[in-house]
Parts: sequence; structure tokens; C-alpha cells
Amino acid sequence: SIRVRFAPSPTGYVHIGSLRTALYNYLFAKGQNGKYILRIEDTDRTRFVEGALENLIDSLTWAGITHDEGVFIEDGNIVQKGDFGPYIQSERLDIYKKYIDELVEKGHAYYCFCSKERLDEVREKQKEEGKTPMYDRYCLGLSKEGVQKRIDAGESYVIRLKVPEDTDITFMDAVRGEISINSSEIDDQVLIKSDGFPTYHFAVVIDDHLMGITHVVRGEEWLTSTPKQAVLYKFFGWDIPEFVHLPTVLNKDKKKLSKRQGDVAVSDFRKKGYLPEGLVNYLALVGWSPKDNKEIFTMDELIEAFSFDRVSNTGGVFDVDKLNWVNAHYIKEADNKVLLELALPYMIEKGYVTADEAEKKADMLELIVDTLKEKVHHASEIADHMGIFFGHEVVFENEEVIETLQQEHVERLLNAFKAKIEEAKTIDEEFASSIFKVLKNETGAKGKGLFMPIRAAVTGQMHGPDLGKTFVILGKILLLERIDYVMD
Ligand code: GLU
Repeated sequence: SIRVRFAPSPTGYVHIGSLRTALYNYLFAKGQNGKYILRIEDTDRTRFVEGALENLIDSLTWAGITHDEGVFIEDGNIVQKGDFGPYIQSERLDIYKKYIDELVEKGHAYYCFCSKERLDEVREKQKEEGKTPMYDRYCLGLSKEGVQKRIDAGESYVIRLKVPEDTDITFMDAVRGEISINSSEIDDQVLIKSDGFPTYHFAVVIDDHLMGITHVVRGEEWLTSTPKQAVLYKFFGWDIPEFVHLPTVLNKDKKKLSKRQGDVAVSDFRKKGYLPEGLVNYLALVGWSPKDNKEIFTMDELIEAFSFDRVSNTGGVFDVDKLNWVNAHYIKEADNKVLLELALPYMIEKGYVTADEAEKKADMLELIVDTLKEKVHHASEIADHMGIFFGHEVVFENEEVIETLQQEHVERLLNAFKAKIEEAKTIDEEFASSIFKVLKNETGAKGKGLFMPIRAAVTGQMHGPDLGKTFVILGKILLLERIDYVMD
């Protein structure tokens, strides 16, 4: 049965490209009744970041991309589940040791004591000669005894892959078809580093094999690594999994989406009040095109529709406008309480409410959220639009507003409106739903002649949020102050 894995290196944040890799793994596994595994590739100790693992799992959980096996956080603790563990590479060193010994024994890998200076020199010279820099196999001929002596003397070493000479290395990629490359183009890759840790190339092959991975689904930046890995499968005599290299997530200029150009971390989007359903739905479409141009998908629908044969082999463009469009769909449907929680920090930042008042004013704030969610793309934008509900002065948006208020019948209309507000105990939904009928009967104004002047007077705008809800949010005092302000 099908087994796939998402194997991130915890670097402190989750790039949305990584989230998409996780998502495609998940969708494929779920659609095939397979297993989806989360493995942590932390053998690069120089990149270790405190808390990165927790942050990673938190982002995945938030997105609803949940794994069946591997590393989990439970009650704040890191736990591992599954029969193929450990799932954290730094806990598998003895396993890598066993397999590297086997490779060295068979003559497929060798010790290398070259200093960094020497390697740099060789590389420089090759570059000058217009050659692709490659290790020159200086240490390949060392005898077993010689090697042992130098190790015993405490010399620093790495272990390298002995790439076979002039052999075609072939593997299958579900997106790109069969890929073949001659081994002469492959460097004698380091498998074990001088700190004793395996490199990515070595650990990934051992783990994918031992964990029974049937499909390796990952970003296309790993495509050039695959031949090196294929050599290892061959040396061990293991079945090679199928590969699926996903198109890079690009920005609108068709360059790799990078941190410098703005938001790329899942947490950036989360903070801005994007909803997981929206981000996941949109990300699914970056590099995969569903059959019938459908654009809004629940996770279950994605699982149902997803397949690798509709994954493109050129980069997928990440278009924030499109993301916003998709997310807006989910914002409209979202629970006001949930949205308020996301928007509140921004409301506080903009000074509309203090953290202490927030609970007391929750009803009003939720109504604001309910009123504005029609027009925003993500929750933080709610705070950008809520100014309309604050202050007793009315800012006229344009000439049209002024002209609207200068019509002959408007003074009578506003006076009648004012009287009704004064009469009312509170401005509630009932008031809001009956007031226009009352004003129509009383003043004869109707249609645009009724709604537009009221809207213009209360908000200073020609278009905007639902008027009835706006009355309730403003309340009696603010409404009266605004009408007085306009009539002055
Ligand atoms: N650890 C690699 C990464 O950070 C995994 C690549 C792979 O899936 O083979 O993306």
C-alpha cells in the first residue's frame, strides 16, 4: 500500500511552498488509502533552531494537514508514533552507521581526509579550466590500514559515495517521465560529514527505504539530487520509489518566492487572518489544475479530485490576489467569533478598542465583524474598514455625498429620522428593520431618495456596509451626533 512522507528540515518557519508539498503528500495518501508520514530531517546541526519543530507541527495542524505516522506534539511534548521510528533523523545515527559501514565494506564509499583548503583549490582550478567542479578522488586510493591509522590519529574525515563510472542512472518521475543521466556528471557526494552526521542525500535514502516509502513527493529543487540517491538505491540493491517533483512556487515575476518580497511563511498568512481552509484551497491550485476549472474546494473535495497527472511541470505562480479571492469566500462563511479573534489584535493596534474592553464590547465587535466580512479578504482587513463606525464627525467621501445631502427633501427626512432615534430606547435590530418603512410613510421619500441621504448622512459614503447593522453598531448617541453634525 501507498506510503508517502513530508520530510522538512525545521528551519524556524514553514514556507508556503513546503506547506504545498505537505498538502500534496497528504491529498495523495488520503485519496489512495495510504499512509502519510512526517519525518524530521535535522542532520544539519548548523541550522538548528530552537522551537522550530513545534512551530512546524503547529502550522501543519492549523492547516489541517495531519499525518498518520511520525512526529507529533501532545500536551506540549514531542512524541513519535508508528512502527518505523524513530522519525527524527538525529535519533537514527546508529542506523546510518550500520549502512555506511556496509557501503564502505562493499567498496561503494570511501574515506576522505582532504582539507577545506585543498578542496577549494581543486574547485578553483577546475573552474578556471571551465570544468564543473567535482571532487578529484584524491583519497579514493587510500588503503584500509592507512585510513585506520589516520582515523586513530584523530584526523578529521568525511565518507564519500563512489559514483560508478560511465553508467546511465535512470529513475521515474510522475510529472516529468523517465529521467536518465550519465554518472560521469555526478560528484562523489559526501555521505557522512566530519561531525559524524549523515548528509541529506544519505539519510533520505536510508529512511525512505526503511520506512517503506513508495512515492517520494517533493519540490523540484531536489530533482538534481535524485540521481545521487538513485545510485545509493542501486548499491544497496533496494527498489527505488517513484518520484514526484513538484513545480516551484513562484512569484508573479516567475522567480522563486522568497522572504524578501513579503509574506512566504505560513505564520505570516495566519497572522493576517487568512483562514486555513482558504490558504489550503488556494495552495492546492498552485501547480495543480483540477479537471473542470473548479476553484473552491473543501479538503475532502481536494482529496477526491487530486492526482499527479494534473500537476504541471513548470513553476506554479503564487498570486496573492487570487489567494485573497479564495480566502474571501471562506471569510464570508466563517463564524464571527473566530473572525473577531483574528481581527482583534489589529483593532487594538488601530486604537478602536483596548484589550481590556474587548470582552465587554464583544457583541458590538462581533456585529462589526459580521457587517464587514462581506468585503474583506482576510480578518486583519476588518480593522482597516471599521473607522466608519467610530467618531461623531462624518467625513464626506466625495462630491456626490454632498450633493445627495443638498437635495430639497433631505432636511425633512433627516429631522424625521432624528426624531425616531430620539424616541427609541435603544437602536436594535427591530428599529433597524422598521425605520425605513416608518420614514417612507411619514415623509413620502422612497427608494434611492430615502436610502441614499440616510447612508450619506450616517456614514459620509455612497456605498458601504449594511445600513441597519450600521445603525445598531453606532447606537443612539453616535447616530444623533452624526445627524446633528451633518445638519449643522
Ligand atoms: N529535508 C528536505 C527538505 O528540507 C527534504 C527533501 C525531500 O523531501 O527529499 O525539504
